[in-house]
Amino acid sequence: MVDPDFHDRDGWIWFDGEMIPWREAKIHVLSHGLHYASSVFEGERAYNGKIFKLTEHSQRLIDSGKALEFEMPYTVEELNAASQKTIEANNLENCYVRPVAWKGSEQMGVINTRAKTHVAIAAWPWDYIAAEVWEKGLRLCAARYRKAGVECFPSTVKAAGLYTVNTLNKNHALRKGYDDALVLGSRGKIAESTSANIFLVIDGALHTPVPDCFLNGITRQTVIELAKGQGIEVVERDIELGELAAASEVFLTGTAVEMTPVARVDHDDRDFEFTVGGPVEQRLIEAFRELTGMAAKA
Ligand code: PMP
Repeated sequence: MVDPDFHDRDGWIWFDGEMIPWREAKIHVLSHGLHYASSVFEGERAYNGKIFKLTEHSQRLIDSGKALEFEMPYTVEELNAASQKTIEANNLENCYVRPVAWKGSEQMGVINTRAKTHVAIAAWPWDYIAAEVWEKGLRLCAARYRKAGVECFPSTVKAAGLYTVNTLNKNHALRKGYDDALVLGSRGKIAESTSANIFLVIDGALHTPVPDCFLNGITRQTVIELAKGQGIEVVERDIELGELAAASEVFLTGTAVEMTPVARVDHDDRDFEFTVGGPVEQRLIEAFRELTGMAAKA
């Protein structure tokens, strides 16, 4: 069965402070956010009725907004309450939550200082990674575009504008028959996938790139803490593409993908293969499951 279009679903969406029917959550076509990407968003996940690291996500929405010069009309506490209320209004226990803030239709043109900030929150069940992919591991190809460096854009925040490149890279990967793309950073080092951070296991230690031109994911930070708690060495550093040859396991982390193993990276003329379900990844998935309540995947 094909999932219904996102505009045509039952349920409730929190919209500028009110809970309104899902199908009525609309904006004007002359919204600044639509034309000039003045929009920031969050991706949260609820496990057993509780949103994981909710305060961190609400704070990040405010911080992303600040980077785009939004005056966010809600506090962290108000955003927390609104996200939680949204999952309850939709009778959801295990779901994805999507807060979004954008500049409205008060003003057209590149400048947006007079446009108001609007905020909406939707929630729906979302198994982002299919069970069989989770079992077999992801196949990644080379991305078409690199990440923009912070000299071009505040590229470490969760701004909708950055996802133009992520979408092009993801479409490119799927067209080539892959699950996702491995994206290089502005300096040509390994950065992340199109919607998740990356970890490599080399000689039993966990290596992950420094988030200098991409999002320092909340899941990434959680996995680093879990690894340290388990006595696994964690090394944050610049990682060259060729170093994938030394990695026994590779996995992605993110709110949507949770923790998903990577089976191979085919990067132009260089192919790399990794063990799926390897020992380090298994230990960390177990710890992540215990912490969050994440369901078993395979
Ligand atoms: N990078 C990108 C581009 C993302 O979209 C996400 C998902 N928000 C992540 C990394 C991982 O972030 P988090 O763990 O906070 O979801």
